[in-house]
Amino acid sequence: MSAFYEETVLSVKHYTDTLFSFRITRPQAFRFRAGEFVMIGLEGEKKPLMRAYSIASPTWDEELEFYSIKVADGALTSRLQHIKEGDKILLGKKPVGTLVTDALTPGKRLFFFSTGTGFAPFASLIREPDVYERFDEVIVTHTCRTLAELTYSRDLVESVLNDELVGEMANGKLRYVSSVTREDGPLMGRITDLIENGKLFEVLGESSLDPTSDRVMICGSSAMLADTRAIVEKFGFKEGSNAAPADYVYEKAFVGDGI
Ligand SMILES: Cc1cc2nc3c(=O)[nH]c(=O)nc-3n(C[C@H](O)[C@H](O)[C@H](O)COP(=O)(O)OP(=O)(O)OC[C@H]3O[C@@H](n4cnc5c(N)ncnc54)[C@H](O)[C@@H]3O)c2cc1C
Repeated sequence: MSAFYEETVLSVKHYTDTLFSFRITRPQAFRFRAGEFVMIGLEGEKKPLMRAYSIASPTWDEELEFYSIKVADGALTSRLQHIKEGDKILLGKKPVGTLVTDALTPGKRLFFFSTGTGFAPFASLIREPDVYERFDEVIVTHTCRTLAELTYSRDLVESVLNDELVGEMANGKLRYVSSVTREDGPLMGRITDLIENGKLFEVLGESSLDPTSDRVMICGSSAMLADTRAIVEKFGFKEGSNAAPADYVYEKAFVGDGI
């Protein structure tokens, strides 16, 4: 039996010369928890070329969605960026990951801090009814270099608020704060700075981070993770896991350096 499912590309959407999303068929037996990642890829000359990808669609969706970088000389994405409807994609059978609500103890506000394609797991979580049942407020932040790189998250949040299934639950609970680091925009700066200088909370009109009521998930580059983890730990947040749920969890959006 093959280690991978072979699925079909249903649609592809390009946002910038470095970002795109695509949807594929979902095998009936494929189950995952919102926030998890799975190996996906393409047939290679000798063996399949697979990479880790966060599942961007919610668990109730009949299709699977992914949000991807295009690395010009990247082994996978130099090819993946050219996929079109009807093409075949290999899908791993075992989704895993730490960005799951099971790894957090109950709280009132849930913060999702993301940079770049690190928004992908939160694209799944903000469409999950269970998240709105567990928390009074869901605050998702997305930081990119340019405004164009925020298109996917901005459009998605808008569609969630208008969605038949989750729109009613998300309205009044889901807040979206985006910022850019390399061009002028309504809000500028790295998420770490916006937390530390209080601007994030000014924009929200809310109090700063508090481990007694807040839970946090973080997804971005290695540098972003290190800096953001250091900040939340300074606030007193303790790292959680499936085995020992606590206040915050994190996951690398990719291996290597970046935004
Ligand atoms: C847990 C996990 C989840 C991931 N989820 C996603 C996802 O949802 N979407 C996604 O596009 N990628 C994701 N990645 C990264 C993905 O696995 C690949 O690295 C990416 O698809 C590029 O593959 P590649 O073979 O073209 O280039 P690689 O050889 O893998 O990487 C080439 C270079 O590009 C950089 N790079 C790779 N991925 C990114 C990225 N996403 N953003 C910025 N720089 C990057 C690397 O640091 C490296 O320097 C994830 C990685 C991990 C570990």
